[in-house]
Amino acid sequence: MFDDSQLEEIRARADLVEVIGTHVRLRQAGRNHIGLCPFHNEKTPSFTVSRERGFFHCFGCGAGGTVFNFLMRMEGLSFAEAVQALATRYGVTLREQQGAPRADPSARESAMRAAQIASEFYAHVLWRTSTGARAREYLERRAITRETAQTFNLGFAPGDSSSLVRALERRGLRAGAIAIGLLRQSGSQLRDLFGGRLIFPIRDSAGRVIGFGGRVLDQRLPKYINSPESTLYSKARAVYGLYEARAAIGQRERVIVVEGYLDAIALWQAGFRETVATLGTSLTVEQLRLLARYTPNILACFDGDSAGQRASLRALRVFLEAQLLGRAIFIPPGYDPDTLVRERGAPAFGQLIERAQWLVEYYVRREGEQAAANGPGGRAQAAGRVAQTLGLIANPFEFDLLTRRAAEILGVREELLRQQARRGRPATARAAAPAQVETAPREEPAEEMRTTAQWALLALATSYPELRGQIAAGLAGLEMGESKRTRLLIDLSASELSQAQAEAYLTQHLDSTEQGRLSQHMVELAEVDLAAARRLMQEYLQALARWEAQQRLRRLRLEAREDPNPAAAQAVILHRRGEGKPS
Ligand SMILES: [Zn+2]
Repeated sequence: MFDDSQLEEIRARADLVEVIGTHVRLRQAGRNHIGLCPFHNEKTPSFTVSRERGFFHCFGCGAGGTVFNFLMRMEGLSFAEAVQALATRYGVTLREQQGAPRADPSARESAMRAAQIASEFYAHVLWRTSTGARAREYLERRAITRETAQTFNLGFAPGDSSSLVRALERRGLRAGAIAIGLLRQSGSQLRDLFGGRLIFPIRDSAGRVIGFGGRVLDQRLPKYINSPESTLYSKARAVYGLYEARAAIGQRERVIVVEGYLDAIALWQAGFRETVATLGTSLTVEQLRLLARYTPNILACFDGDSAGQRASLRALRVFLEAQLLGRAIFIPPGYDPDTLVRERGAPAFGQLIERAQWLVEYYVRREGEQAAANGPGGRAQAAGRVAQTLGLIANPFEFDLLTRRAAEILGVREELLRQQARRGRPATARAAAPAQVETAPREEPAEEMRTTAQWALLALATSYPELRGQIAAGLAGLEMGESKRTRLLIDLSASELSQAQAEAYLTQHLDSTEQGRLSQHMVELAEVDLAAARRLMQEYLQALARWEAQQRLRRLRLEAREDPNPAAAQAVILHRRGEGKPS
């Protein structure tokens, strides 16, 4: 467990908007920030972040909670790991509490530490040892400046693995390094998977090293190797260079996707700092969804030869599946992005960006060209195929626009194309269906009102320690029912926890559905001042009192019906008139 004062310190230093902002593009809206929810697919923002309250909430899927919850859910961390990650990032040293297990960090933490230590080791070898000279010369030949190389934290892995193995073992990270495939058993020894290679650390969007790419400096094969899949790294999900590019992606509202580390680095150096790379795979839906959190304006580079053109058509399907349109930049045959900017300069690449084509339109045009060559029968077939592809477009406005363009290009009747496309469309409008909404079982309206009031009061008690006394007093006479929510509410309103402590406490005790209910009130409270908060508190307390009176009345009515005792009936009448309470 952590020291409360340290949680408070982390909470005070960790800016929720900044932490979430590394994963989601946020903009200010009133006193809150809003953006597209990373936990479900949406096109209009319902994801709300309150910097002051330290809570986020999605009005689309109900996700919500504190900065700790965000990291737990976004990066699959435990509470302890989320606290540790924030402490590291914001320079808070966590004191060990007595009895806290020191020697046994979780496997994931150990893997992450191993990756970080190895990355520092490789950079040290590259810049500060004679072993690194070969790699430094290589970078020079590729015209990669030291500043660029250091931005991407490049390194060099010496052929002899013993220093790295020792450095990792000394810190107790042997198991972690093996778990991420960095070290392998070779005979009686441990060896570095990347020995003798130039190292490209792969970082997550928060800047933590999750894996490596390694390139040989000679003609050996394979030219590139990457970290194997592990708890930290998945090649289908990771995007190289995102951490370095994310600020520029936000400013320029676009992202350029290339295929190799060196292409990404070369474009970055040439001024296209919004560039990222896939890692030895073609683009995946997961990667596109990750990028779409920053911008929907995604440009993918393809070779201009026929293989590249075919690849762009495969990519179109992936884009549509991710509900994105995407544009293609075709690199002239004989070049790649790296050689292009080196030999022809940055403006040459800038012109290619200007000429980027919508993937859908490019595809329709190609079908049109082929159809024209094949006569009327060919045109009908092409229209059928195009209709099928158009059917994948979820957004009705984009669908409309592109169908019209496609009809024009193919020279077929728009209505025909539209009909055929609709037939292929999924019955449910995918854009409108939030992913796996966790909803509580439907409650009676009165019951729901009571639950809402209790959540709201819990939010008020969390945010406004000064209101807790009144809340506790208001609750004292009420029948609260037995639930985790009410126990927390009663405990918290009687406590002297700081806001940060209260948040940490709730983070650990509420499940994700409950976090969502609470966070909704937290972000809504961000818009009100103390006086308004006090009025809300009174309203909710009154609502609870009203609920209780209704229940009492209902019980009395039931009793009166079952039991022909005139005293009970009399009590109902008295209660209704408000003339006295039944005894
Ligand atoms: Zn959501």
